[in-house]
Amino acid sequence: MRPLSDYLRSFFLVELLRGMRLTGRHFINRSITLEFPEERAPKSPRFRGHLALRRYPNGEERCIACKLCEVVCPAQAITIESHQREDGTRRTTRYEVDMFKCIYCGFCEESCPVDSIVLTRLDTYHAEQSSERVIDKQKLLHMGDQYESQIAADRAVDAPYR
Ligand code: SF4
Ligand code: SF4
Repeated sequence: MRPLSDYLRSFFLVELLRGMRLTGRHFINRSITLEFPEERAPKSPRFRGHLALRRYPNGEERCIACKLCEVVCPAQAITIESHQREDGTRRTTRYEVDMFKCIYCGFCEESCPVDSIVLTRLDTYHAEQSSERVIDKQKLLHMGDQYESQIAADRAVDAPYR
């Protein structure tokens, strides 16, 4: 048998009034939700989004094909082939990342001695075909060119901790 207090609570609609009080409190408070995609949550300079390859200001690719990123990648998502140029420097002929394998750990970025391979702040992208999962060197360089100012600013903020 229900105690008398339960009957009284039901009779005076106590739970309903409590619920309305909570609703009223949030109704006048500032909204904490965001209107995605127009509004975005702030991101850390260390955010690990879509990968990109960077160039120097003169347009030269930074990557020297040392293959450290390929070796360190725990998902084996990176494939590199390289050749030596006439001036004795080495550059990649193939640099591919399988975005389905990548786990966005950032090890490739940490291992790179010339800040070439980086993870950008780009967090929304998609592939419509399975074949599009592999991002080639040209796409990675294009991504780097597109976001270079943001990438450089983020690396500058992070530099004292590296
Ligand atoms: S972020 Fe991690 S998993 Fe992705 S390519 Fe770099 S090292 Fe590999
Ligand atoms: S991206 Fe960096 S770590 Fe990877 S091969 Fe090029 S220079 Fe080496």
